[in-house]
Amino acid sequence: MSLYGLGAVLSATKASAGLPQAGDEYDFYRSFPGFQEFCENQGGKLSHCMSQIMQQHGCRSHMRGRNNLTGLEEQFDLVIDANDVILERVGILLDEADGVNRSQQPVMPAGFQPPKIVVSSWNRKGSGSGSRSETFRLLHAKNVARPQLKFKEKVDNSNTPFIPKIFIKPNATKPLPSYFTDKQIHKQRPEDLDVPAALADFIHQQRTQEHVEDMFAHPYQYELNHLTIPESLLSKPDLQIYKPLAETKCSFIETLEDLVALNEKLCKLSEFAVDLEHHSYRSFLGLTCLMQISTRDEDFIIDTLELRGEMYILNEAFTDPAIVKVFHGADSDIEWLQRDFGLYVVNLFDTHQASRALNLARHSLDHLLKHFCSVDSDKRYQLADWRIRPLPDEMVQYARTDTHYLLYIYDCVRVQLLDFNHGQPGLLQCVWNKSKEISLKKYAKPIYTEESYLELQRKQKKSFNTQQLTAFRLLFAWRDKLARQEDESTGYVLPTHMMSKISEELPKEPQGIIACCNPVPPLVRQQVNELHLFVQQAREMPLLKAEIAAQTKKGLTPIKKPEVTLFGPHDTSRVCGGDHPHFTPNDLPVKQGILFSNEEHEMDDVQKTSGLIAPPKITLFEELETKNDEESLSVAQMKAKRINESFENPFRMYLPSNDVHVNKNAKFDPSSKIFEISKRWKLQSIEQQQKELEASRKAKEEAKDRAKKLAEERNKTKQSYQESLQNVTTVRQQAAESAKRGGKKRERIASEEVTELTPKPSKKLMKSAEGPRKTEPSPSDSFTPFDYSQSDLKVFGGAKSKGNTQFDPNRQGHDFKKKKISKGQKSNSGAGNRSMSYLAGKSERGFRHNWPKR
Ligand code: AMP
Ligand code: MN
Ligand code: ZN
Repeated sequence: MSLYGLGAVLSATKASAGLPQAGDEYDFYRSFPGFQEFCENQGGKLSHCMSQIMQQHGCRSHMRGRNNLTGLEEQFDLVIDANDVILERVGILLDEADGVNRSQQPVMPAGFQPPKIVVSSWNRKGSGSGSRSETFRLLHAKNVARPQLKFKEKVDNSNTPFIPKIFIKPNATKPLPSYFTDKQIHKQRPEDLDVPAALADFIHQQRTQEHVEDMFAHPYQYELNHLTIPESLLSKPDLQIYKPLAETKCSFIETLEDLVALNEKLCKLSEFAVDLEHHSYRSFLGLTCLMQISTRDEDFIIDTLELRGEMYILNEAFTDPAIVKVFHGADSDIEWLQRDFGLYVVNLFDTHQASRALNLARHSLDHLLKHFCSVDSDKRYQLADWRIRPLPDEMVQYARTDTHYLLYIYDCVRVQLLDFNHGQPGLLQCVWNKSKEISLKKYAKPIYTEESYLELQRKQKKSFNTQQLTAFRLLFAWRDKLARQEDESTGYVLPTHMMSKISEELPKEPQGIIACCNPVPPLVRQQVNELHLFVQQAREMPLLKAEIAAQTKKGLTPIKKPEVTLFGPHDTSRVCGGDHPHFTPNDLPVKQGILFSNEEHEMDDVQKTSGLIAPPKITLFEELETKNDEESLSVAQMKAKRINESFENPFRMYLPSNDVHVNKNAKFDPSSKIFEISKRWKLQSIEQQQKELEASRKAKEEAKDRAKKLAEERNKTKQSYQESLQNVTTVRQQAAESAKRGGKKRERIASEEVTELTPKPSKKLMKSAEGPRKTEPSPSDSFTPFDYSQSDLKVFGGAKSKGNTQFDPNRQGHDFKKKKISKGQKSNSGAGNRSMSYLAGKSERGFRHNWPKR
């Protein structure tokens, strides 16, 4: 039955791909009334059919307004929503089928022996499963150790714009701006400090007044703009057929040494193929888990979770304009490379773009493989959990196929592009240009603004009243904050459809929130009381009908921003009461990355305090000292307030206001960044003081000198007498003297030994990093795995959070000793341990993204 269904879906997909493409062919065909009529007939039937299916599943299904563009967009959203709901249900059913007594082991391809959970090592010998079952493959695993825990540089989920990670720029025509090369920054960025790197950089930037544009520019913009494709790459190539998979060497790269060797190998080539595998469910920003590289002779599979901090060395090959890098559908890859490794691509060829230019029936990699290589591949593993280590053999094979044939496809499409254009290079040139545009893409971090929730709410196609909208806003803010803190996708924290349902129902009891969620996300279960307070808070809003709420949606957002906003989007602390006029967002432009406003210096105190125009009823980071007369608050409001007080604006301590608030403990905690910063500030002021002291001391000394000379004269006669006495030093005195000196010496030697132990350069230092990193200790020597649950909130959590019922990730924290013991063993990552039945890749980000056909 399911096979039949799959077959039907496949043939339908194939048939639809064969239809004339919108844009060129389609417009032409549409000029024939017969075609038009047929399309409309069939289209009507199809929408009707889809509506019925959606209704069957209890989804909204108003497939009306087929003819206008926005209608189409809405319908598309409806279909996505319905898909979400249906797939969710499938997940639940699969979980149920899995049984109450769920195994604690990851769900792996049948026949595969689940290994002990070790993040680092590869399964070199393959899965060891002789009989590989072809029948059943599950696309996600449970209880996979969080790779983030062992990242050397902490993931920066802060609500600040992304700043490129690059600090060495190979193949540069234009040097890297000093901002990036300033090694000081990188030295002052020890791995274990708990301030996001971007924030530390921001502080540095604020002090040194360096150019902000540098920070956000594409590091290879200049080189890419000046890249010209050589004649040889615009003429017809000889087809070089791929080596059979079985005869091709496949190497796993999991050590720095191997990576360096690979880089050297790649630097000698004229082209190689690249692909990435990615995970987006159990991480806020997403993780690049695997890089596949194929040359004409060999395949390489790089464990990018293991080598995350070292991947940048590949920039030598990746940015070499003389080496073509072939990708298929590189749009996301380009961004992931920047985000996770600081890698850039100069001279990209995207076979997906070639397929488009050739107007092939479909542009997915499967199709190209079938078309040019007669290889049947299936994308079943595309959404597998790529964090699994060691990687099951099937997944390795899958990953390999993604690049193994790509260079041959690159040859084929170039030949066809030239043939297609009667030997003229125009079309091929177009593909090179398109590819270049893709490599110029810049990664942008998701930024939370007070309008973000409206954007999402609008997509829900539900008209909310003010109470529902308030609940949605509060839940959205909670979800975003928690997802960043816990490094989970927002879809893992609280899927949008559940959030929507809670807002719609506004349950009177916490149990009602649970009832809105099936399955209940762990973090929702954990914080259900806090969530319920948000719902209660929303219920206390004056009830306005949907139309008015809709009006609010359109333009008048409940929270207004002042024209000059210095504070982070989370920071609504500078709110003052009063009935200010309402502005439309057009009147008050909301700046992206307002943290980085240059205007802060012009701001006077009045502006600072007049901040936002309308006070929000409740915010996650409310100022502690807002003078709310507590009596006027309801119980729920009081509770909510107390919860809010336990949140603290993470950026506040960096803001140049008078009431800079720094957690006192953090200031004295040597492991915190703020400690480092305040120490540096202190040092600076101490230096200044010392200079002044020096000057006054000199003056004093001169006076002393004069007095001394006088005294000297007076004492001369006395001295001659004393000298005669001092000539006699006792043996005991001598012994004591030498013992003192010797002891000091021993002490010093001991301390020298101690300091020597720590920064020992790694033996495995690689050629490419020798220059700038020569004197730095190898990260692996000083590395202690970062435990995200340990330190993230240390700086931000106010003293108030103690004894609070507020969920505290630190509470379940593993202390350092525990971590050492459990190293290499199964390490449970707090809430993440519970098995969930969401589908992998089902986060909003992953799902609603318009994936290029691969
Ligand atoms: P590919 O280039 O096809 O190997 O895909 C690379 C990565 O993109 C995969 O590992 C997935 O994480 C992600 N991906 C690809 N297609 C989709 C999709 N349709 N939905 C969500 N994620 C996808
Ligand atoms: Mn890809
Ligand atoms: Zn792939």
